[in-house]
Amino acid sequence: MLIFERSHTGRRNAAQAPHHATIADGIPAALLRQDRPLLPEASEMDVVRHYTRLSQKNFSIDTHFYPLGSCTMKYNPRACNTLAMLPNFLARHPLAPDSTGQGVLACLYDLQEILKDVTGMAGVSLMPMAGAQGEFAGIAMMRAYHDARNDTARTEIIVPDAAHGTNPATAVMCGYTVKEIPTDANGDVDLDALRAATGPQTAGLMLTNPSTLGVFEKRITDIQKIIHDAGGLLYYDGANLNAILGKVKPGDMGFDVIHMNLHKTFSTPHGGGGPGAGAVGVAQRLLPFLPLPVVEKLPSPLAGEGLGERGGATYRYLTEKDMPQSIGHLSAFTGNIGILLRAYVYARMLGAEGMNRVAEFATLNANYLMAELGKAGFTVAFPQRRASHEFIVSMKPLKDATGISAMGVAKRLLDKGFHPPTTYFPMLVPECLLIEPTETESKETLDAFVNAMKEIRDEAHATPELVKGAPYTMPVRRLDDVKAARELDLTWKPTASASAA
Ligand SMILES: *Cc1c(COP(=O)(O)O)cnc(C)c1O
Repeated sequence: MLIFERSHTGRRNAAQAPHHATIADGIPAALLRQDRPLLPEASEMDVVRHYTRLSQKNFSIDTHFYPLGSCTMKYNPRACNTLAMLPNFLARHPLAPDSTGQGVLACLYDLQEILKDVTGMAGVSLMPMAGAQGEFAGIAMMRAYHDARNDTARTEIIVPDAAHGTNPATAVMCGYTVKEIPTDANGDVDLDALRAATGPQTAGLMLTNPSTLGVFEKRITDIQKIIHDAGGLLYYDGANLNAILGKVKPGDMGFDVIHMNLHKTFSTPHGGGGPGAGAVGVAQRLLPFLPLPVVEKLPSPLAGEGLGERGGATYRYLTEKDMPQSIGHLSAFTGNIGILLRAYVYARMLGAEGMNRVAEFATLNANYLMAELGKAGFTVAFPQRRASHEFIVSMKPLKDATGISAMGVAKRLLDKGFHPPTTYFPMLVPECLLIEPTETESKETLDAFVNAMKEIRDEAHATPELVKGAPYTMPVRRLDDVKAARELDLTWKPTASASAA
């Protein structure tokens, strides 16, 4: 039921303390609307109950294990939220001058430095508002770099077939042709195919490492040599850094540009398409092209004691005047500040040692879960490889034996109290479940998930119809995905009964 359907004409939110504001005073009659806008009219209690009930219908990390591969649906400390929402941060106007925002600029500058350090890059811009926008910024910088050298015959970006869909989409948005290369039986890039695809037409390669198959590309040094020898650049899709934090740096692997999903790895809970922040990092040669604005730190002209914790430094946003070769602004104002502050607090809370532990626990949890599912007889896609932060299990044998697909298992998991893993991505493994337990889950939760998977397998053999009908316990049953995509209808129109109410 929608809040509009709970509406009663004339009902107000403050029945106990009625007050009558007359906002029309002083506004010329010609500018006042003649009829009332169609807004829901409900009491405060009705509104509270309505939205609380809706929130309880949600499947969320706060209520359930949520091992959605490639999405890093981990628990994020409430402290990050609380500090990012301090009134002085919230109240800052985006057009306020740098001089009145030295605190927030100092936080953003430090975050740039932390991300540089974690990734081994020479510079960072925090501006992109999503992973996909970070990719766009990264490939746009590659293009600007080649163009600045009059190296304009490079028309292709190489993308492995395991890549996230945003990678080829980004390359096309930046005006490049996508050259897809296959993955070998071990889950690594097919080096022969890479060599054959690389040439003077290559602008660069987009790579996710660890890949979306959950394995770390061991021959990354060979790969970077093939691309760099051909004059191309390497793009690192760092949407999920959990497995490598504090362990290995994309800069050391030879990458020239990277984006990081701060809303996956650095504390912002996400879902439903936002909000996000896809900071980009670059190697030395791409520094002039970073998207604006970037925060600069100016040391104090005075030397010596008594200058405070930050040594009397001041901070400012760099503009087109400072960086004439920048690819420019990607959005109004200064990025998704709330997300950036959460990431800053999170990074400062963890410190270098804590980041190491994130990587260790993310990897431990993934490998434990992979081993337990393997022991239980499930088909791990790359059993010979150690998992990174995620891994793949194929439901193909179950489907062949019982007719129950990966989707069937996913829907039944909801009845067992688990959000399903990512299904049917990457498409290289048939009937795949991409499972990312994250570092914040306990052994008991992981064991319970293995049990649920075993129960579903037993049900698939004994009573397949039961599994096919799932879910039974959710607010809605199985949805018609095709109808939802083809005939999406998000508008509400008053029916005769609702408007009479
Ligand atoms: C999530 C993700 C992206 C895209 O990030 P958005 O913020 O959703 O645009 C890109 N690549 C990989 C590997 C991802 O997991």
